[in-house]
Amino acid sequence: MSNKLMVVIPCYNEEAVLPETSKRLLAKMASLTEKGLISPDSRVLLVDDGSKDRTWEMICGLHQEHPLFEGVKLSRNRGHQNALLAGLMTARGRCDVSISMDADLQDDMDAMDRFLEKYNEGCDIVYGVRNKRETDTFFKRQTALMFYRLMKSLGVDITYNHADYRLMSNRALDALHDFKEVNLFLRGLAPLVGFQSDVVTYDRSERFAGESKYPFKKMLAFAIDGITSFSVKPLQLITSVGIVIFIISLCMLLYTLVSWIGGNTVTGWTSTLASIWMIGGIQLLSLGIIGEYVGKIYHETKQRPRFIIDRYLNDRGDDPITDR
Ligand code: UDP
Ligand code: MG
Repeated sequence: MSNKLMVVIPCYNEEAVLPETSKRLLAKMASLTEKGLISPDSRVLLVDDGSKDRTWEMICGLHQEHPLFEGVKLSRNRGHQNALLAGLMTARGRCDVSISMDADLQDDMDAMDRFLEKYNEGCDIVYGVRNKRETDTFFKRQTALMFYRLMKSLGVDITYNHADYRLMSNRALDALHDFKEVNLFLRGLAPLVGFQSDVVTYDRSERFAGESKYPFKKMLAFAIDGITSFSVKPLQLITSVGIVIFIISLCMLLYTLVSWIGGNTVTGWTSTLASIWMIGGIQLLSLGIIGEYVGKIYHETKQRPRFIIDRYLNDRGDDPITDR
């Protein structure tokens, strides 16, 4: 028996790529059905993340033209991760298996066959991994590499070069549903879900049209979010720095006492000024890091909904989900 697949695609101002993406998806889903990898009632769920252009109108049009396409409209822009979660949580219980991907055709659709084969072999999660990043700029490649290395050194289990192109079985979605955190970093959560998993490599191409919604500032914020949501090592690092500075201060105490006894205590402007700036800087940095975590706690304790669904377009008359 073949499985019902739901492809989940977050879309934010994607009017430039949607016609092409939908055309390719139609062909891909037809070929997967023909191969017997998915059942004919499989669906593509397009999540409109509060777009300001004609994205939602296009999704409505696609839904009318073809029952393959379903649409979810969020009440406002909530960002990629929340939009993706909204889609996955809508798919949960409505499919056997889900695959998440971006709208911009950067993720090679032909990898879906291998995703589903792995699923049939018993995997609950399959990670799509780019085998080269030639299409990215040198800067993006290097910063990404640094980020993955940093995450690894901080003890966070994430798959190198895996974005959010991922297969998750309904069982894995159920498990993901139990993670209630507001600070979302899905590619870090998936390994925490566990189950049998595997990796499928693919070539990542360039964005088909439109602009990246991840400028450098957003990328940096995303990276900091990823680190502070999954590791408390930076906090422990502050303690280590504190210990080192304390030891240095003991040596300094000894030095000042010896100087005082020796009677030459007037000089030392440079060392005084340098230590004031040094200690001040380290203290502010430490406060900032602690503040980052306090901010996280602040957001988590409020337990605000991670997304609010405005409309859910489907051919079964399902209501928007309220459990988020
Ligand atoms: N996206 C979204 N909400 C946002 C920003 C982005 O749903 O606030 C979607 C976007 O439509 C795309 C995916 O997230 O499908 C990835 O964004 P993008 O391709 O711009 O990121 P990049 O590939 O450049 O990292
Ligand atoms: Mg992209």
